[in-house]
Amino acid sequence: MTGKGPNKPESPEPEKSAPEKSAPDKASLEGKGLIAGNIEAGRWLFAQPCEFLRGVVDLDGLPPMGAPEIAFAGRSNVGKSSLVNALTGRSTLARTSNTPGRTQQLNFFSLGQPGNPALILVDLPGYGYARETKATVAAWTRLVMDYLRGRTSLRRVIVLIDARHGVKENDHETMKLLDTAAVSYQVVLTKIDKLKPSEVRPRLEEVREAVRRHVAAHPIVIATSSVKGEGIAELRAEIAGLADPQAIGYKAREQ
Ligand code: GDP
Repeated sequence: MTGKGPNKPESPEPEKSAPEKSAPDKASLEGKGLIAGNIEAGRWLFAQPCEFLRGVVDLDGLPPMGAPEIAFAGRSNVGKSSLVNALTGRSTLARTSNTPGRTQQLNFFSLGQPGNPALILVDLPGYGYARETKATVAAWTRLVMDYLRGRTSLRRVIVLIDARHGVKENDHETMKLLDTAAVSYQVVLTKIDKLKPSEVRPRLEEVREAVRRHVAAHPIVIATSSVKGEGIAELRAEIAGLADPQAIGYKAREQ
């Protein structure tokens, strides 16, 4: 998220969650490799306290490895801040704006009890804004590679793709970088509400096809809308599966 640090370093007040579509039925979730229990675990996980830890501009500033990390990457304006806010149910955690920008930094957020987080969310700087120079691309690549290298606590990078635009050349470049770094990543479409219903399936097919060209990419593509809440529960569930909620205190309700 280039040039867009969090609004304030302290833990934000919980706010009304983004509107959330009702969870898909169990059968369709299993078809996607998810189980209904993970939906519940995802809801639980993302209802935990979430706070900004630090913004990092170079390797020296990286926090020590601990809880599992999930990083978010995407072109500037893809809707990354909006998605992080929708996942955590807060409207002010990560800043949203239309002005892509200046300082490149990685923003770290903890999810869970302060001091003993269940998960760390890492907001990587956005890429691909209009006046990007070769030097800026090189600086982005260096910073991100510095982070990825040897970061064993990193479970997955969520690569965001604007549903209106599909996979662009610089998205492929980012995915190639992640392939090279042997980092597991998953493509998530944003702003799905901007497509006509008839456009959704072809776009998903096209993106799945693009994803198949990359060795380290997770085959499942999740379509989301931070505005309408679509796909948010599924993405929370997917992430909860990586955080192992049972190991961090989540207890499934008796059916
Ligand atoms: P970032 O630069 O990737 O952090 O993108 P932002 O979260 O700041 O979003 C960029 C613009 O897209 C803002 O005007 C958001 O309001 C808008 N936006 C983000 N997510 C959605 C979405 O799911 N649906 C719609 N319609 N607009 C969105």
